Amino acid sequence: MRFYRATAFLFPKHYEYRILFICLGAVHFPLIAYIGLEVTTGQWQAATLVVLLLATLVAAGLGLAAIRALLSPVSEATEMLRAVQDGEPVGHIPRGAGDLVGRLLGSVATAANESAARIKRLVDTSERDALTGIRNRRGFVESAREVLLGNHTAVMALIDIDHFKLINDQFGHDAGDDVLKTIALHLESELRRKDLVGRWGGEEFAVLLPDTMLDEARLIIERLRASIALDRNLDDRGWPVTLSCGLALIRDFAQFDEACQHADTALYGAKSQGRNRIHISATE
Ligand code: GH3
Ligand code: MG
Ligand code: MG
Repeated sequence: MRFYRATAFLFPKHYEYRILFICLGAVHFPLIAYIGLEVTTGQWQAATLVVLLLATLVAAGLGLAAIRALLSPVSEATEMLRAVQDGEPVGHIPRGAGDLVGRLLGSVATAANESAARIKRLVDTSERDALTGIRNRRGFVESAREVLLGNHTAVMALIDIDHFKLINDQFGHDAGDDVLKTIALHLESELRRKDLVGRWGGEEFAVLLPDTMLDEARLIIERLRASIALDRNLDDRGWPVTLSCGLALIRDFAQFDEACQHADTALYGAKSQGRNRIHISATE
């Protein structure tokens, strides 16, 4: 480190130039020594001097090019570490041999992979609902943004469990939690692969049905409601679990909040007309 610090005044921002500069000096040392000898003895041998000068120039050129190429993995590794630090994708990390550069590239690969895995875990945790394992509201909105970027016409469905408080009050909070988990399972397993499912909050769920018109969405949610109402695991409390749902059309992500409000108003309509039904928003 002492030599490194002592030479830091040479190209303070470019370590590779410093190495090249020192190598250049070292390569010229025999030539300088020879010139010194000729000066001391006063015997000038022009041919030898020219040959030595040319040989030094060629050696310096080739040496500098080789050192520059040998240092390029270090520059690449530095660039990759900067990407890791900024949370950017690092891309392909070349593998080195078992030498210093190889060990450096190996460490960069480990740092990049671990950092990417940690970021993914954090994003997953922040976008998943801890109880049911499906997306939470934030995860749902993020995924909806990606889906709706493709300009799909979609249907937004807000689904609320009817009289859920009764289940909690009569059978306890854990029984309520089990019902929420079972319903999340129904949503995940019975809707289409392209449909997005999330826990909107409390006993409310959100579903985004891409490339779907309202009538088709109604059929899909009706099927889901029937399967939940008939689930033997859910009616051991003496009554079936029923759902109310509000549907609204959405054409792009800019309309997301508006569509949620329309779906919520439709859901309110379903509740106020007796629950256990689907209402479609009158507003498009
Ligand atoms: P409605 O048919 O009008 O929707 O009636 P409801 O009883 O389903 O709705 P209400 O808003 O009166 O009660 C919702 C209940 O959901 C109250 C709250 O304690 C319960 N709840 C919210 N989150 C959870 C949860 O994570 N676990 C459990 N077990 N209960 C929850
Ligand atoms: Mg509710
Ligand atoms: Mg409810």
